[in-house]
Amino acid sequence: MDSGTLHPASSKLADDLSHHLKPLARGGSLEVLTQLREALWFEEVEWVSPRSSQCRVSLHSFLMRQAQARLEFSGPRVCLRISPGLSLAEAVHHWRWTSLSLPGDVLIAAHAAATGQEPPADSVSLGAPELDGFFSETELAQTHLHLGAAIPFERLWTHLMAGIASQDLLPGDLKGTAGFVDTREFLCWLVTAALARLSLGSFLFHLEQGQAQDLGSFLPGLAKRTRPPQVFLGAMSALSQGKDPVSFAEARRLLRTLQGQPPERLQGDPLEVLEQRDPLFEWLGLAPTLPETRLIARSFRYLRTSPADKGFASLFWQYLRIRNLTYRHLVLAPGTGGLDWFSTHFRNISPLRKGMDERTRVCSALEMDSRGARLASLEVRTSPSAHWGDIRNLAREVKAAPFRREEPVARALVLHFIKETHTSRPDKLPNADPRQRAHGCRFGSYFHAREQEVLAIETVLRRHPRLLQVLRGMDVCHLELAVPTWVFVPLLQRVRQASARVAESSGGGLRALGLTLHAGEEFRRLSEGLRHIHEPVEFQLLQRGDRLGHALALGTKPRAWCRDNAVVPQPKEEHLDDLLWELDRVAHDDWLTPRGRARYVKEQATRLGAEIYGGSTALVDLRQARKLRGDAYFLATVGYPFMRSHELAKQWGPPGELAVRYLSDFAVYTRGRQPELVTVHPTDAAMLERTQQFLRSTLAALEITIEANPTSNMLIGEVALEHHPIFSLQPLPGKARKGVSSIAVALGSDDPVTLATSLPDEFAYLYFELLRAGVSRQEAQSWLRRVAEGGMRARFTHQPTGPGPRAP
Ligand SMILES: [Zn+2]
Repeated sequence: MDSGTLHPASSKLADDLSHHLKPLARGGSLEVLTQLREALWFEEVEWVSPRSSQCRVSLHSFLMRQAQARLEFSGPRVCLRISPGLSLAEAVHHWRWTSLSLPGDVLIAAHAAATGQEPPADSVSLGAPELDGFFSETELAQTHLHLGAAIPFERLWTHLMAGIASQDLLPGDLKGTAGFVDTREFLCWLVTAALARLSLGSFLFHLEQGQAQDLGSFLPGLAKRTRPPQVFLGAMSALSQGKDPVSFAEARRLLRTLQGQPPERLQGDPLEVLEQRDPLFEWLGLAPTLPETRLIARSFRYLRTSPADKGFASLFWQYLRIRNLTYRHLVLAPGTGGLDWFSTHFRNISPLRKGMDERTRVCSALEMDSRGARLASLEVRTSPSAHWGDIRNLAREVKAAPFRREEPVARALVLHFIKETHTSRPDKLPNADPRQRAHGCRFGSYFHAREQEVLAIETVLRRHPRLLQVLRGMDVCHLELAVPTWVFVPLLQRVRQASARVAESSGGGLRALGLTLHAGEEFRRLSEGLRHIHEPVEFQLLQRGDRLGHALALGTKPRAWCRDNAVVPQPKEEHLDDLLWELDRVAHDDWLTPRGRARYVKEQATRLGAEIYGGSTALVDLRQARKLRGDAYFLATVGYPFMRSHELAKQWGPPGELAVRYLSDFAVYTRGRQPELVTVHPTDAAMLERTQQFLRSTLAALEITIEANPTSNMLIGEVALEHHPIFSLQPLPGKARKGVSSIAVALGSDDPVTLATSLPDEFAYLYFELLRAGVSRQEAQSWLRRVAEGGMRARFTHQPTGPGPRAP
């Protein structure tokens, strides 16, 4: 910067930043963004010379300054810094956004370098010290965690860097490009990053021994250990310039040469093994932090003391750039709501954790959720294999995964069916399309595949009944709108019955599987979300003590929703189902229909029925036909998922025929999928309010617990934390509304790596949000305690009753 003018390179960076921030600023003024940027960039500038009007801000000093402003080390922990102008609650709020853009360990390392200390931890203790008392006294239950994402980024990165030389990861395995041209380029840079990491580490090691001076003169010596040396130097020079990487095969060969043989099969704690596999381990050894955090801290220290080593600076920043792009490849960015965005980020994880076994992931979940907290119960979810042996092994891993704590943590495995629009099939038809050759009905092949998984679960339970101590629940998750509820009715009933038989013959020592469904998380219209929450009750899937995941529709304010969603497109058949469901509820006296609504609903349903089925149909038949879909006996009688004969449906009369046409008629399918622009009716808000009250009292009477995942809902459901439905489901003292039942809630972290969170973090985020809203500390903590108790009560983990359990 020269007297208020940016250097051309900084100017370009500033323009790129504005371009990036504009859509996220939601109409905020560009001038304000510019002021913010200037304040952050040039807060404490370094003048090039005392008399010069030019100033320069080096990247390392900028980051170290930011780290010092945000963090402080307190014994073995890293805490957020409070200052006269910034309370802890505000600091936590700021951290929420920072942590979605940048891995926290980089700031921790920068702080360590700035203050001349060793980094004490790889992550920030968000609640410390204010929530220390709460966390040490309160038992926590993790009720909603997807095992595939239960790895903090820093550990995932270590796994990737340590293993990328030996794993046969190919460009086709990667699911996204992380901002590079294609997956091939992404992979080339990942392997090059591992090579650079090793080179930087080796250089810093030799520097400490007094055997190196600067990176430029050190690298040729290192290159001599590879053949031919020019290729290695070419790879490093390509990275320094950020273009034309060497091929991933070439880079991997170099990496193998430098790294030597991978260590023999290491025994012991999987998390320690993961660290010991890291080539940096030999130099840095075991410590409370990962070798990676210490490498970055040492690099910052070197940048500060040797600013003239430009070669080191460019290689290090390019390394950090690839690391950060990978972080953003995994972590959901704010402003990208919806389950579709989320699912692409979620898909990105699995190739990067290739080679990481399930036991390591379970250990990682145990460690992450007990950071600074008393984790008493851990449930992990994943999709079942169609091979029963895999499920048995997984259940055993969940039970046996070692954990370095005195107090044992109860563990459970929950298996979930994944809702998808497409499954890889030769005909490439969507799962909903009834033209599936062998099946001839909607979701036929999808259902058939899930049946194989059900069979595998039944086999495990039959052969190893004691595994019911660990295999504790079933779930349906992922793209909520892709597969309707009825598809899962026969499947879930079958699994539950199989587990009930095992529980019964155990003589009371075991309980049947619990059920939890992701429902009411994503919906086009609020009534659709509410219907999805009710259908598991309506179709008799949910039982006392079961749970629902998210159920955001239950706490969404109807009047605000109607105001913001005046016209919404929805497939005709889904709108018809909403109306038929409403008519059923009114017929059951579940709620009183608002004045002026009955005729409107009937007219709309009649019109839609005629449009979809190509002729007039009686409403009573349409209503009955919808209910038949959710009836496992009906589906079994008509041969679902193989619809060869329609004759069998005749015994149900016109409703049976309508149900069969819905399942198998392609014309009904295409007409039903047509979007209808649905306009809010003046009576909608009143109806939605009554529906929510009815659902709350129904769920409360059934003792159903709602699993809330605040960060997940903030990013995927675009629900601001301060407006999270959890505050209305479980009201604060004095805030309960008359006549509205409160519902037990449990907290989960959903997908920690994708959402940059953990169970203790979720508690902290909620707590400080309450403080920001003006709630007293005492009230906020007692509310937090109630939520923790809700989780402990609703947990699926085995609680021995009757004769003591034996190991399976
Ligand atoms: Zn989930």
